[in-house]
Amino acid sequence: MRRGATSRHGADALRIGGLSRFSSVDWPGRLVATVFLQGCPWDCRYCHNPELIDPRAPGRMPWSEVGGFLAGRVGMLDGVVFSGGEPTMQRGLPDALDRVRGLGFGAGLHTGGAYPGLLEPLLPRLDGIGLDIKALPDDYETVTGRGPSGAAALRSLDLVLDEQRRRASTARPLDVEVRTTVHPDLIDPGRLRALADLLAERGVRRWALQRFRAAGTRCGPARGAPPSLEGLPRARFSELIVR
Ligand code: SF4
Repeated sequence: MRRGATSRHGADALRIGGLSRFSSVDWPGRLVATVFLQGCPWDCRYCHNPELIDPRAPGRMPWSEVGGFLAGRVGMLDGVVFSGGEPTMQRGLPDALDRVRGLGFGAGLHTGGAYPGLLEPLLPRLDGIGLDIKALPDDYETVTGRGPSGAAALRSLDLVLDEQRRRASTARPLDVEVRTTVHPDLIDPGRLRALADLLAERGVRRWALQRFRAAGTRCGPARGAPPSLEGLPRARFSELIVR
């Protein structure tokens, strides 16, 4: 079969849940299009894209439509971000990354790190990655609702940071942002501080704290007050962003 032809491993097999044609926030500092892939193994209470969780749901648009759009945006967009859902669970993603890079775009990924074994071979293809680290490892089930999931996320974190270190002095460094959604009912100041220390010790340089927003979620407003961010060890990070 020719490269890229429709197969389980080609971009044409991707189940695409949506396309954001222009974003200045999905990859900070770059103008991008964002492709949302269907399916996620987790069921986070605060998920803003619950319609993308069902891994059996069909796609809503073919890759040919996305590819045609991108071909017309060469020189106008900096990159293409694959988000979800959990995009690494689709076997057509490596081919899609190769195709967007072939058009000259930077290749970006948003992931929760649920599948470190699938993430690892993607890393050399990526120019940027936004990795959600949702909680301390032992608290993951509370957030994701899916059994022990923290070990996979931590393994993914280590893979991403190793790749970032490996490419730090090259012409193609890996842009890494680790992200944590701060839900008042799911993390308290002590756990947030412990998570900060864990991330700093692992080597995270840019940590973005995302305030929980109820709009678009199934869980509704939080019961508790947002935890204070005052005691966080800001000096241990190159950037600590609150958004
Ligand atoms: S990992 Fe992301 S897409 Fe999956 S359920 Fe959680 S917030 Fe939603």
